[in-house]
Amino acid sequence: MKKFLSFIIFILIIQIGSISFAQPKQLQSRSPSMSKQWSDKANSMVKYQIERRGITNSEILKVMRNTPRHLFVPPALSTMAYDDYPLPIGEEQTISQPYIVALMTDLLKLKGNEKILEIGTGSGYQAAVLSQLVDSVYTIEIVESLANNAKIRLDNLNYKNVIVKHGDGYKGWPSLAPFDAIIVTAAPEQVPQTLIDQLKIGGCIAIPVGDKWQELQLITKTGKNKTKKKTVIPVRFVPMVHPTE
Ligand code: SAH
Repeated sequence: MKKFLSFIIFILIIQIGSISFAQPKQLQSRSPSMSKQWSDKANSMVKYQIERRGITNSEILKVMRNTPRHLFVPPALSTMAYDDYPLPIGEEQTISQPYIVALMTDLLKLKGNEKILEIGTGSGYQAAVLSQLVDSVYTIEIVESLANNAKIRLDNLNYKNVIVKHGDGYKGWPSLAPFDAIIVTAAPEQVPQTLIDQLKIGGCIAIPVGDKWQELQLITKTGKNKTKKKTVIPVRFVPMVHPTE
């Protein structure tokens, strides 16, 4: 009898253990699964490049561990996808360095219910990261082939709350304004006034500004015609270009 009881207790312990280690449904459904090889790389990317540089927001760290960055770069470069630098994505454009993606995301101080505008879709990686932290992401890309590829990639990976548009980011997306926050991933020489106009009061824009020397700025809209500027760090982004007509 004693033996039987300890057997039952043993089975119960195993059952309880497996329940508490099961992944919550919500987490499973918001990010595609990654093999051990890639998730090991993503985990060390987060630990050594992002946490060590001072980003502590656990939601952002979790999302960056779970987003398959190797599927956002050309296949020939996939083994370098989690390394500490930007990579070419074709059309002379680049996917930003992982730390810069995390930093810009962190600057927006997201709560989870925001409608975000991104200028410069590129590979769609920054949009994929944001989409797991907010309500919706609207992203504009000026190079048509990049916009189309990003759209297909984001659809295939099931990031359903990202809408990609081919167009000129200097115009913003007036029919959907105002936005809770805006992220610009190409550098204009000055902060475009149209984007400030399309931001809610209290919202902010993370944006690299400048020509050869660029700085990452956080612009907060404090009133209808009032903004506050914070300079974050020197950065190097591709230029935000005007359409050639
Ligand atoms: N966020 C991207 C990286 C962007 S690189 C990612 O996660 O991969 C910057 C992108 O901005 C490039 O793809 C470039 O074509 C685009 N870009 C440059 N000027 C633009 C403009 N005026 N409007 C929209 N996109 C622009």
